[in-house]
Amino acid sequence: MKTNHTYASHVSVLEIDNSALEHNISYFKKKLQTGTKLLGVVKAYSYGHDAIEISKTLEKNDVDYLAVAYTDEGIALRNAGITLPILVLHAQVQNYELLLSYNLEPNIYSSFTLENFIAVAKVKNVKNYPIHLKFNTGLNRLGFTKNDVNPIIATLQDNSHIKIQSVFSHLAASEDANEYDFTKNQIKKFENIRKEFLNAFVHPIDFHLTNTSGIINYPEAHFNMVRLGIGMYGFGNDKNETAQLKNVGTLKTIISQIHEIKPGESLGYNRAFIADKLTKTATLPIGHADGISRELGNKKGCVYIQNIKCPILGNVCMDMIMVDVSQVACKPGDEVIIFDSQEKVNVLATNSNTISYEVITGISQRIARKKISS
Ligand SMILES: *Cc1c(COP(=O)(O)O)cnc(C)c1O
Repeated sequence: MKTNHTYASHVSVLEIDNSALEHNISYFKKKLQTGTKLLGVVKAYSYGHDAIEISKTLEKNDVDYLAVAYTDEGIALRNAGITLPILVLHAQVQNYELLLSYNLEPNIYSSFTLENFIAVAKVKNVKNYPIHLKFNTGLNRLGFTKNDVNPIIATLQDNSHIKIQSVFSHLAASEDANEYDFTKNQIKKFENIRKEFLNAFVHPIDFHLTNTSGIINYPEAHFNMVRLGIGMYGFGNDKNETAQLKNVGTLKTIISQIHEIKPGESLGYNRAFIADKLTKTATLPIGHADGISRELGNKKGCVYIQNIKCPILGNVCMDMIMVDVSQVACKPGDEVIIFDSQEKVNVLATNSNTISYEVITGISQRIARKKISS
């Protein structure tokens, strides 16, 4: 993407380990039955990792499908030459023409979206254009209900403009063993919907329900495609699974300047840190506008220099943080690791009251992405 070139000289960088990504893809492929398709979820800039580079790797590794959230994310992939089919999970009706012209496939989740898409497909006079029907089985976010099944079948059975490529739903709590019964009920509801479509249509339809933790916890619910997101980037739903996966993203920066703060002196905005002893600090060119949450200020978060933990002192600024390097022999220009493992991402997430997903997707476009292995 253009932004990347703009910021290519930026010293804070997210390195993308391509071989780790390939390892994770093959780890999940081994969990699938022969013939089960793999869809790679590359929405939100591939969970912050660089959607184009990640998609190229997925294409090379025989992933069957890609999914993005919005039409513009799909267009960026097409403009980069990605040819895999792309499901747009939350396509908006006002973008349907654009979506068609870029050969992107919409999630159709309501009669409103279905009617609008049929109208556009007619005007454009497309034939058998693939669509994906989403059913709500308990998440209550997007989706048709069971009662919509018959009207949809009636509408689509003799429509030559569009064709059902897949029918899918999304689990609400696939990572949570306490919600096993709820999830089993979602699976059952989905199976019933599936049967109705199998009875009504002769052409092959893909059925898919599981995200990463669903793939891991509910192998009986893989149907004939799975949707792999966070797992590709190295995060399983528990420590044991995560230990089998490799970390893909490493967020690094450098030291800009070193200060010595005398007892009684303060550091940063609002004087949030007051030294009680002589404290050596390093100022780093990365801040809350880059995805370092303000929640991580005042020693709640830390970075690593020469493998030594350096707590963030005072408030996180927009473009900078200051860290305690009293214990580190370091100088301006030295390398600083924000995270280089899933464990460090998880610690940052816990300390800023969020989850790994938000930490990695929150890394701003100002941070350069750099592929480090082919
Ligand atoms: C984001 C998303 C996924 C991927 O979920 P992970 O937990 O990251 O694997 C799958 N399906 C849908 C509908 C999504 O929105």
